[in-house]
Amino acid sequence: MCSASSLIKQKALELGFSACGICRPDFAEQYSGFLKDWLKKGFHGEMSYMERNSDKRSDPRLLVDDVKSIIITALNYYPSKKQDAQAAQVAYYAYGKDYHVVVKKKLKALYDFIALEIAPVKGRIFCDSAPFAEKYHAVKAGLGWVGKNTQLILPGKGSFFFLGSILLDMPLEYDEVVIPDRCGNCTKCIDACPTRALMAPGRLDSTRCLSYLSIEYKGDLPDFYKETIGNRVYGCDTCNTVCPWNQNVRGNETGEFQASEKLLNLSFEEIMKMNEDDFDKLFFETAIYRIGLKQLQRNAGV
Ligand code: SF4
Ligand code: SF4
Repeated sequence: MCSASSLIKQKALELGFSACGICRPDFAEQYSGFLKDWLKKGFHGEMSYMERNSDKRSDPRLLVDDVKSIIITALNYYPSKKQDAQAAQVAYYAYGKDYHVVVKKKLKALYDFIALEIAPVKGRIFCDSAPFAEKYHAVKAGLGWVGKNTQLILPGKGSFFFLGSILLDMPLEYDEVVIPDRCGNCTKCIDACPTRALMAPGRLDSTRCLSYLSIEYKGDLPDFYKETIGNRVYGCDTCNTVCPWNQNVRGNETGEFQASEKLLNLSFEEIMKMNEDDFDKLFFETAIYRIGLKQLQRNAGV
């Protein structure tokens, strides 16, 4: 007879997730120290939400009463068709519908499966939507390791994945085998970062990161941004695309993540001429919608 854990993992794969692991909801001691130091140095920039609930961020027991298990899933977003090289470049994760919605829908289906087919259960679903250290727990659940580019890398599958989590009051079998760091002597991501935002292995200064500046940062863009942004208009994939673990990875097969022809060929001129209606039509329900037309035009104007 299959255990509850294997039934959950099997269902996760059926729902389209590429990987699923389970770990204990322990206090993330190592991560807690790292986070405190990172915040103290101001590397989070204007992301003040990182400062709030930092106790919860390191301790999943503060997020869900009587939590016994953490299920972590990974959903591929590597594009099966990429933008034209001349187009205004959008980060791969934002090609399709807003991942928060798509991942949560799949997590909800997994949660319902557990509650209906396995046992009554209580818990919460997260996808970048709560102070929760997803990458830290994904490592504990045996999904991969955190590379020098700060991304979770799944062996043989790369790092273009959204992580989603379910915290449950149900005890499950935990994955105990942790995959060791396989970055070795490679420093490709650090060498390729155009702004030196990746200062050292696993150390990211967000205030220098093109992704942070184009998406999270609302102010006037610094000169180094203008000198390094190239034809990017939303986000940056460089420290992921250069990674040897991301070569020859499979494109995603999730319908909601497929880019429209319009996005694949999006020009800077089109962005600058857009009005609010055009913006809504093209980006409604995508991650780009969150930054609004003004900020997109600020980025394109550079
Ligand atoms: S996203 Fe771009 S700017 Fe940010 S750390 Fe990676 S390579 Fe550097
Ligand atoms: S580029 Fe190299 S160092 Fe950076 S995450 Fe990938 S394997 Fe690790």
